[in-house]
Amino acid sequence: MHELPVTQSILEIAVRNGSQANARRVTDIYLVIGELSSLIDESIQFYWDMIAKDTIAEGATLHFRRIEAELMCNDCGERFPHNREDVSCPGCGGRNVKVAAGDEFFMEAIEVDGEPQG
Ligand SMILES: [Zn+2]
Repeated sequence: MHELPVTQSILEIAVRNGSQANARRVTDIYLVIGELSSLIDESIQFYWDMIAKDTIAEGATLHFRRIEAELMCNDCGERFPHNREDVSCPGCGGRNVKVAAGDEFFMEAIEVDGEPQG
């Protein structure tokens, strides 16, 4: 259920950016979601349709890009794909690893429909 606050912050940023750009409408929002984050695209879309209503971002298309999870070994620096069954490092066999990618969530870009130039 934590998609609601996340969606609210997306909306806040989108509206702020849209107003700064004197946009009439925010048309597209590009989001990046790491594989390990538990955010669900459909839930964000669901809340979006609900809370973006009557804002300049109403009806904007949400684009989701997933980032594959990757681990990094603290001992030898090796980066390797996350494997749920075995998290040991393929380089040195150690288990002193951390998440290097896959837990991120951010907004990559916003497209707006601005005032005609001139
Ligand atoms: Zn290693």
